[in-house]
Amino acid sequence: MKSLLTPLLLAALSATVYAAPLKVLIVDGQNNHAWAQTTPELKKILEENGLATVDVATAPAKGQDLNGFEPNFFAYQVVVSNYNGALWSDKTRSEFEKYVSNGGGFVSVHAANNSFPEWLAYNEMIGLGGWGGRSEKSGPYLRLREGKWTADTTVGRGGSHGAQHEFTIEVQAPKHPIMAGLPPKWKHSKDELYDRLRGPAQNVTVLASAFSDAATKGSGENEPLLFAIDYGKGRVFHTALGHGLEAIKDVGFATTLQRGTEWAATGKVTQKVPANFPTEAALSPRP
Ligand code: ZN
Repeated sequence: MKSLLTPLLLAALSATVYAAPLKVLIVDGQNNHAWAQTTPELKKILEENGLATVDVATAPAKGQDLNGFEPNFFAYQVVVSNYNGALWSDKTRSEFEKYVSNGGGFVSVHAANNSFPEWLAYNEMIGLGGWGGRSEKSGPYLRLREGKWTADTTVGRGGSHGAQHEFTIEVQAPKHPIMAGLPPKWKHSKDELYDRLRGPAQNVTVLASAFSDAATKGSGENEPLLFAIDYGKGRVFHTALGHGLEAIKDVGFATTLQRGTEWAATGKVTQKVPANFPTEAALSPRP
């Protein structure tokens, strides 16, 4: 009896218990990435251990009329974007700006930061973005210079990446609630390492970065990949990670998404760091 119960009890005690599930809305429907595969995985990660209940709002496909796409953002604590596509209607954009500036949470995943180069408020929310004609006109790069993230207005493209590979994430803000308790470095599954992102870069805290090696056709710079942004009364968690299923089915990706989403919703992180979190030496893929 004892030998059976003890492991069960230990498992129950070690799982984080949440007061109530967060109400989360994932938006998708257009993306140059496999959103129909990745959204269910993002939902599964966020619903793990009762962290959140997740609804999905899928926009009409590329080329179709977006005027009827009017998710009720205000019914949720956090909106998670897996969307990279055509500009939303004036009404939907205005509602979304109101939602975040009044205290709603927002999480931008990977190519969601390619979206909407022409929508200033959105770029202020995500801090930095890539592609879509982004350039020095979109804002600076953030570059690590003498230990500080510094705006760099050098003329050049906004958004690039080299060949997909495994790389090491380095924590840059160890005291931030999202990062507190995570190891200073960990290995991330094969992914695109976004580089040369640019944007308004206001009210941005760089949480973690990775070195983008010229040998993998990167920038030769430390690239900010996880960041926190204040936008009005709202909090934004931005992860540039998560190109496809291999990158998402990773304990480091999942844990930072779970923590970032809770922080965007409540300003706090009550989760324990899982025992199988990756280390500097070893990846930790999810089943
Ligand atoms: Zn990608």
